[in-house]
Amino acid sequence: MVKTEDIKVLLNQYLKELFLSTMKQCYADLAVQAQQESLSYEQYLLGLAELECITRQNNRIERNLKTSKISRDKNIDTFDLKRVPAKVAHQVRSLLQGSFVDHKENILAFGNPGSGKTHLLCAIGQELIRKGRKVYFTPCSLLVQDLLRAKKELELARFLKKLSRYDALIIDDIGYVQQDRSEMEVLFTLLADRYERGSVMITSNLPFSKWEQIFKDPMVTAAAIDRLVHHSVILELNIESYRMEVAKKNKNKKPDDPAKGSK
Ligand code: ADP
Ligand code: MG
Repeated sequence: MVKTEDIKVLLNQYLKELFLSTMKQCYADLAVQAQQESLSYEQYLLGLAELECITRQNNRIERNLKTSKISRDKNIDTFDLKRVPAKVAHQVRSLLQGSFVDHKENILAFGNPGSGKTHLLCAIGQELIRKGRKVYFTPCSLLVQDLLRAKKELELARFLKKLSRYDALIIDDIGYVQQDRSEMEVLFTLLADRYERGSVMITSNLPFSKWEQIFKDPMVTAAAIDRLVHHSVILELNIESYRMEVAKKNKNKKPDDPAKGSK
């Protein structure tokens, strides 16, 4: 018969070997609880296994949030959906379910600077991650530089493969910085690579009619738009800048308004 002390030592050793760290940490406390509640062996094991799974899932989500490069404060709780047109709010509620990534659909968010495009797509991205998906956020200008560097180092295929592991790629501010032909070529290569293989979520201040500024060549522009739009949801945020609205509200407050916090 194995002694109680030896059981603990062996159990700790086995659970460590099996990488079941939560079970290792919790089995003793749960055993006491199980005894008090007269749980069956199976019920005890179920509770323990469940705890291990939930902890792993939460850790995975935490890791994926970190690698996504999405800023945490741009989430759905801090986004005021009442500010956006009713149609967009309706679209967003459906997008938050996340099934659009299963169909490799894209999201294209258009609107003036400050209308909330980046915040909104980040919020959708965070919800996707919480549902177990992988998302990567990058400003377009940075992405283009990374693509160019990879191409120069003959690593473009490898870099595209790395990006293909993400269920959704958020490309923020396409066309914001004027880019030259070689820069746009690699961007087009990426979009063509992801077409029907993975979702792309894009924000832009430029309507499609001005996308020739981005892709230079009319044929390339048409090809890029065609691929993006084929399976896509378009969010039109034609509203005033949030920052402007806040600034106006503050300006309209009287100087001795207690809400302003003056003492
Ligand atoms: P855009 O990408 O369209 O230029 P941002 O998403 O960067 O706009 O929004 C500008 C600022 O206003 C950010 O700080 C953002 O968090 C905030 N903001 C915009 N729209 C909303 C909203 N509907 N609810 C809460 N904050 C918002
Ligand atoms: Mg933005």
